[in-house]
Amino acid sequence: MNKRICIIGSGIAGLHLAYALKDEFDITVMERRTSEEIKEGRIMSTQVHFGSTRTREKRYNMPNWGDQAQLESIHITIGIEKLFVGMLQEPGLSIDQRVYYAQAMKDLAEKGVPFLTKKVDKEKVNVLMEEFDLIIDCTGKKGPLFPFPIEAELSPYSIPQRKCIVGYFKGIKANDPLGIGVTVLPGLGEMFEIPAMTEQGPVTILFIMAIPNHELDVCKGIKNAAEFSQEMRGALERFFPDVYNRLEREKFKLCDENGWLQTAITPVIRKPYLIDQGKLVIGCGDSVFINDPITGQGCNLSSYCAEQLYETLIEWKHSNWDGEMGESYWNRTKLYVKEVTEWTNAMTEPLPDHIVQMLLKGAEDQAQANEIAQWFADPSKAFAAFFSKMNV
Ligand SMILES: Cc1cc2nc3c(=O)[nH]c(=O)nc-3n(C[C@H](O)[C@H](O)[C@H](O)COP(=O)(O)OP(=O)(O)OC[C@H]3O[C@@H](n4cnc5c(N)ncnc54)[C@H](O)[C@@H]3O)c2cc1C
Repeated sequence: MNKRICIIGSGIAGLHLAYALKDEFDITVMERRTSEEIKEGRIMSTQVHFGSTRTREKRYNMPNWGDQAQLESIHITIGIEKLFVGMLQEPGLSIDQRVYYAQAMKDLAEKGVPFLTKKVDKEKVNVLMEEFDLIIDCTGKKGPLFPFPIEAELSPYSIPQRKCIVGYFKGIKANDPLGIGVTVLPGLGEMFEIPAMTEQGPVTILFIMAIPNHELDVCKGIKNAAEFSQEMRGALERFFPDVYNRLEREKFKLCDENGWLQTAITPVIRKPYLIDQGKLVIGCGDSVFINDPITGQGCNLSSYCAEQLYETLIEWKHSNWDGEMGESYWNRTKLYVKEVTEWTNAMTEPLPDHIVQMLLKGAEDQAQANEIAQWFADPSKAFAAFFSKMNV
């Protein structure tokens, strides 16, 4: 008989795991919302799935989004000076999580994976612990359900470093070559411009990351979509002239009433396993590895860790699932989690001088520009650039 696994939460981590594990184990997914509720609900995030995440999606035979709106490049601006456009080695893709999650949930259900619509709480967890050989906590930023121990060295912050202000907009002419715009406003924050696909067709995601209580923190107290759009237009005019000049004034509006979001994340890294009532419990994705979204790594890190967990479970398929297996999963993921986290945390601080010099060099040297673009697709490269003794 196959071992029984319960995955709680069907975001990137839970979905990738469900696809990877479904033919090897007896899987049940518990998700607090139906696919319809997710599709019709509020945006949850911004997202770019870079090459390695897209390779995993192909590996698991996940829904194919075609070649539309492929993101080939990263446009870097500091202040109002555009420095360069670096080309990615493989294109990325941004699909509204409402559509991505809903479609994958439906597809998995059609392929025979049981989905139960249930908000799991502490009491329910105790029942599940008896029913299943393993619980995987993929509850994302709403989690975790279990007290996975905090890794203090990788968790230096007790409050969010940025306010996240996100709108999915129609009426902005795309940048060329199609890619992700990154604008750094020293002392104020950043903005990411991400061409994306939604239920309503192509949109431009505008994602302001404001240092709290500074001038870029423009949407305080906003209560509805109309006020939000108005403030965003004002912010573009004031701080981001390149995007403002591409506005099609009459058409500029949110793609739907739920296409905006304000939130703030306190980054926390936890050891992704524990023993509860003598049984191993594992965490995957944001529930255990949550970083500030400033480097756009959350989805990619969740997908990476889901694959590492899958490989671990296959390796231990016929062994006891105990703390040793938990440690084996942590050992597989630790280095990459550390690289992503330390780079991301460094990006919330003023940029070090040697990085500013690299960016300036990128303006004159296309090979250097392409290398910097690749930091986002391969964060180990960014970590090396920021921290390698040769560079510092
Ligand atoms: C503003 C913002 C911008 C971001 N931008 C980017 C970006 O550009 N690029 C990038 O890669 N990442 C980005 N991220 C991060 C990214 O969204 C997350 O890292 C990613 O969604 C994590 O996936 P997950 O599966 O761990 O969690 P989630 O996507 O949060 O999914 C968790 C799921 O669990 C369900 N759930 C929660 N609690 C329970 C419960 N008790 N019972 C049952 N179900 C439950 C939820 O309904 C949800 O479906 C951003 C995040 C934010 C907030």
